[in-house]
Amino acid sequence: MRQWGNTIAGENRPAAGGEWIELENPATGEIHGRVPDSGSEDLQAAVGAAQKAFPSWSRLDPEHRAEHLEALAAAVEEHLEELALLESVDNGKPLGLARSVDIPRAARNLRFFASAIRQFASESHRGAWGQLNVTLRKPVGIAGCISPWNLPLYLFSWKIAPALAAGNCVIGKPSEVTPATAARLGELAIDCGFPAGVLNILHGRGDRIGAELCAHPEIPLISFTGGTLTGAAIARATAGQFKKLSLELGGKNPTLVFADADPQAALDGALRAGFSNQGQICLCGSRLLVEQSIYEDFRASLIERIHKLKVGDPLDEQTDQGALVSAAHKEKVLSYIRLAREEGGRLLCGGEELSLPGKLARGHFIRPALIEGLGPDSRCNREEIFGPVLTLQSFRDTDEALRLANASRYGLAASVWTRDLQRAHRLAEELQAGIVWINCWMQRDLRTPFGGMKDSGLGREGGLEALRFFTEPKNVCLQLENGM
Ligand code: NAD
Repeated sequence: MRQWGNTIAGENRPAAGGEWIELENPATGEIHGRVPDSGSEDLQAAVGAAQKAFPSWSRLDPEHRAEHLEALAAAVEEHLEELALLESVDNGKPLGLARSVDIPRAARNLRFFASAIRQFASESHRGAWGQLNVTLRKPVGIAGCISPWNLPLYLFSWKIAPALAAGNCVIGKPSEVTPATAARLGELAIDCGFPAGVLNILHGRGDRIGAELCAHPEIPLISFTGGTLTGAAIARATAGQFKKLSLELGGKNPTLVFADADPQAALDGALRAGFSNQGQICLCGSRLLVEQSIYEDFRASLIERIHKLKVGDPLDEQTDQGALVSAAHKEKVLSYIRLAREEGGRLLCGGEELSLPGKLARGHFIRPALIEGLGPDSRCNREEIFGPVLTLQSFRDTDEALRLANASRYGLAASVWTRDLQRAHRLAEELQAGIVWINCWMQRDLRTPFGGMKDSGLGREGGLEALRFFTEPKNVCLQLENGM
C-alpha cells in the first residue's frame, strides 16, 4: 500500500496526530493507499511555512514565478502515465480519460497561468484634472484552495496555478475521497525545486481540516469548488471575517436540442454531456430537452447509443464508463433512480447496479440511465444527482424550451443545439447560466470566465478573472499637474 504525506515547508510529512485516511479503489473495493488525516497542528505548521515564504515569493518577479510553474508543469508531463493511472485507480474514471483529459489539463493549467502572469497588466486612468490613477494589484497573502473529487488534479491545479502565479502562498486541500494525484504533485513540487512553504498541501476531512482552514484568521482568501451545501456553509463561516471568496458549486445543466440541429452532432453532444466521467462533472448536461417534432426519433437513437456504452474496468482501453467514486455515492445515485420511479418517471434504459466478475466484483458500477416522464418540478429534475442519470423532456417551441431550461435553482452551464442563429443568440442572452455552449459542449478556452449564477456559485475563475481574484487591487492617485 502506498503512503503519501502532507507537503509542508518543502517536506513530506505525516499528520502530527499520526492519523491516516485510507483510499479505496472504486473499481475493485481494494485499499490502494493512504494520506494523512490532518488536524490543527498540521494546519498551523502550513500557515507558519506559508507566512515565512510569502515575502520573497510575493516579491519574486512574475518571470521567475512563471518558471517555477513551468517546471512543475514539465514534471506533470514527464509523469503523465503514472499520474493518469493513479487518477484512475483513485477515482474510478477510465484510464483513457485521465490520460487524455485530466492530467494533460493539469499541466496546461500550470502553463496557462505561467504565461498569463507574464502578460498580466493593471489599469491606469488619466483624470480630467491632471491626475493619473494607477491600480496596483498585490498578492493577497495565503490562499486556501479546496477542491472536489470528480476531476481531482485538473481542478486542484486550476486553483493553485493562478494563486501561485499572482504571488500568493497556497494551502491546498484536495478532496479526501481522491487525494492521491495532488499528494504526488506535492512530491513533484519538492523535487523540482519549488521554494519551501510556497505550495503546501494538506490532506484531511472536509468537516475537520477543511472547515478549520476556512476559519483560520491568517488565511484571507478561499477558493472553493464543491457542493452547493458545502459552499453555503463556507460562506456562513467566513462572512464575519470578510474573506475573499470564490465558490464554484453544483449544476443541473440543460441540453436543448432543436429540430433544425445537426442530428448526429446533437446526439454525440447530448451523450457526452450526459455521461462523461460517469456523469460526475459539474458541467454535465443532466436534463435533456428535445423539440417535440424530433422527440421520438431522437429518443430511439439515444437509447441505442446508451446501450453501446461499455461499463467496466477503468483500466481497459475499451471502457466508456468506469466506476462511481464510492459506495456512498453509488447509493445516492441509486436512491434517485428509485425516486424517479416514485415520481412517475419511466426508466427507458439502464439505472441498475452492475456486478462485474473477478477483481471488479466489489466495484461501484451502474448502467447509464435515461428517464422520461418527469416534469420540471420533480426532485430528479431539480436536484443534482451527479451520476450517469439523464432525464428527457420535450418542448414545443423556444419559449417553452427556455422556461424548462431556466426552471432550476442552479445556473452553471447550458448547451444548445440549433442551426438558427437568431434563436441561438436569443437563448444565449436569456438562459440563466454562467456558460452557454452553442453546438458544442465543454469546449474550454482557459481565458474565458468560468463559473455559475444562482446556486451554482459566486465569482468566476479563468484567465484575468482568476488573476484579479487572487490579487488585491489598490488605486494610487497621482496629481501630476495643478488642477486644470
Ligand atoms: P464537497 O462539497 O463534499 O467537497 C468538496 C471539498 O470541500 C472537499 O475537499 C471536502 O473535503 C471539502 N469540504 C467539505 N466540507 C467542508 C467544510 N465544511 N469546510 C471546508 N471544506 C469542506 O463536494 P464533492 O462531493 O467533493 O464534489 C462534488 C460537488 O462539486 C458537486 O456538487 C459538483 O457539482 C461540484 N463541482 C463543481 C464544480 C464547478 O466548477 N462549479 C466543479 C466540480 C465539481
